[in-house]
Amino acid sequence: MTIERRAFDTRSIRRDFPILKREVHGKPLVYLDNAATSQKPVQVIAEITRYYRDTNANIHRGVHTLSQEATQQYEDVREKVRALIGGRRVEEVVYTSGTTMSLNLVARGWARHRLRAGDEVVLTEIEHHSNIVPWQQLRDEIGIVLRFIPMLPDGTLDMEEARRLIGPRTRLLSVTHASNALGTIVPVRELADLAHAQGALVCVDGAQSVPHMPVDVTELGADFLAFSGHKMLGPTGTGVLWARHEVLEEMEPLFGGGDMILTVTLEESTWNEIPYRFEAGTPNIEGVIALGKAIDYLTALGMDQVRAHEVELLDYALRRLGDLPGVTLFGPPEVERRGGVVSFDLEGVHPHDIGQVLDSHGVAVRTGHHCAQPVMAALRVPATARASFYIYNTPDEVDALAEAVADAARFFGGATGATGAAHGG
Ligand code: PLP
Repeated sequence: MTIERRAFDTRSIRRDFPILKREVHGKPLVYLDNAATSQKPVQVIAEITRYYRDTNANIHRGVHTLSQEATQQYEDVREKVRALIGGRRVEEVVYTSGTTMSLNLVARGWARHRLRAGDEVVLTEIEHHSNIVPWQQLRDEIGIVLRFIPMLPDGTLDMEEARRLIGPRTRLLSVTHASNALGTIVPVRELADLAHAQGALVCVDGAQSVPHMPVDVTELGADFLAFSGHKMLGPTGTGVLWARHEVLEEMEPLFGGGDMILTVTLEESTWNEIPYRFEAGTPNIEGVIALGKAIDYLTALGMDQVRAHEVELLDYALRRLGDLPGVTLFGPPEVERRGGVVSFDLEGVHPHDIGQVLDSHGVAVRTGHHCAQPVMAALRVPATARASFYIYNTPDEVDALAEAVADAARFFGGATGATGAAHGG
């Protein structure tokens, strides 16, 4: 399929996002909470309405025209996902409700049946809770051992420790591609090579990478890749688990019910082929179909262009915030090693207070532990403020952020003249 390439023109991109026209507290909305969820373009919003007005029917079940159309539209998105992430086969794409469900499916559907007590799963200290908790639950259930690659003060991973921790007992490495709390881009390929050399599989949490940069499962060395539709212009309640065909064949379904079976008798059932055996029940049909429009939108822009735009904003934001007295920036200082996320705090001001002052300026950022409490523990802070960028953000919005942070410093008397731009904990 040929996709028409659009020029990367932020002004025309912004026109596609109706929400960006709204005001908050009488100020133009400056939406910098994209790591939590992205806004949606008209193309995605309209597709949801179109689906319900023209096509709505259940899929995979009916011979009638509407059902066939809905099925076709739903299935066509698998190919878009495959192409986006460089998968080999369309059946390798399993629809889920999001990264959380995808990672739980790896833990419950693969690891629970393939691992034994004493087998090791290697994670990192910078994981989102959704790549920690399912593994702790499994540890408590079947006795696997969890190992954590530590974070260095600049938010990158201790690769020397990684080489020590990934060993002959390692059966799985499950690692984020980009940290939602600090932006750190993890050298997944290097870690994957270490894991594969020990015969282990590699699961990548792509929640913060697939929406923001080119991702190719083969280049990454991934056996599993999890990501969410809502962080990449698509609807909430959509997500993907991609896994190598051979690995999916080794997995057990998580849920039983309609659509995932081949035959059912009162005594027993047999499973449908992949990927359907992992998609029990009526799925989020309109969500998946609209996710297809989101992928079209990003693909037309070009993921390399998306990444280049964010690097520009990131570079500017690190300089603007780093110049403010009392601001501490967390995460790696080099833009090449981080996604479009700036985590910071302001001396003497609780991040929640920063967030409230910023909100009064119309600037939406996230404050808190960002579902990464171990990162906060390693940094020895209770929380941070986090600005995160996407395709529609502009340098003017970075200025608005910096001015609002300066205002918070004045308001709370927090700017003590301490030097800014201190990287790390
Ligand atoms: N992993 C990372 C790195 C994330 O940033 C997030 C969401 O913030 C998740 C996993 C969980 O994604 P979801 O809530 O869409 O399941």
